[in-house]
Amino acid sequence: MRRKVIAGNWKMNMLPNETIEYIEKFSKLVKDTKNEVILCVPYTDLFYALMNAQDTNIKIGAQNMHFAEKGAYTGEISAQMLKSIGVEYVIIGHSERRQYFAETDESVNKKIKAAFSNGLKPIVCVGETLEQRESGLTEKIITMQTKLALEGLEEEQVKNTIIAYEPIWAIGTGETATAQDANESIKAIRGEVRKNYGEDVADNIIIQYGGSVKSSNAKELFETSDIDGGLVGGASLLPEEFAKIVNYDE
Ligand code: PEP
Repeated sequence: MRRKVIAGNWKMNMLPNETIEYIEKFSKLVKDTKNEVILCVPYTDLFYALMNAQDTNIKIGAQNMHFAEKGAYTGEISAQMLKSIGVEYVIIGHSERRQYFAETDESVNKKIKAAFSNGLKPIVCVGETLEQRESGLTEKIITMQTKLALEGLEEEQVKNTIIAYEPIWAIGTGETATAQDANESIKAIRGEVRKNYGEDVADNIIIQYGGSVKSSNAKELFETSDIDGGLVGGASLLPEEFAKIVNYDE
């Protein structure tokens, strides 16, 4: 059976002192969970998060990285830099990066490869816009994004990729896909993985749902057949609320 992986995406929120306070409180609330817990924090909080999560079951991730090893990319951070301080996960291709920072399927694919080359585990976001959904294009878009993101990866790497299905119309809007709809979309993504990488990889790859996950809807979403946990934005900023989501099965 696949494990559940629940990751928080703080986006551009939280200062170092808030990070320390948060982890102090949150770590006590999630210490007994068997679910995997990840906090994806801003670059400036990474060091503080890593130090304070050291003796806990909380893993730390970044929210982006550049695909190049090093060089003249002012303001960017490489996979090697993240790895060197102990970061384990990195979100790649979040819709906000695709929308505001010209992230493309091609750059997403390059970043995933660079992440693996440096020992980082990618959490790769895919998802359709409202317009695409209303035009009946959901499945086509999310399977295509999945295919392009994973192109050229080895089976073992695909197995170790986390995909987050995040319908763009559900992110930060309070609108959630119904558990049934989200599960169907995730089945389609898993089907695409099966087609290209086989049964074993498809059965093992973790595919999360993201989009206005809260403690009030987490259980219903995470207990479906194909949703293996969540990528949580807004609700992950509150330690008590995020802990309830992590502990949805208690
Ligand atoms: C996200 O940032 O990935 C996200 C899903 O945000 P929210 O939970 O706030 O919709």
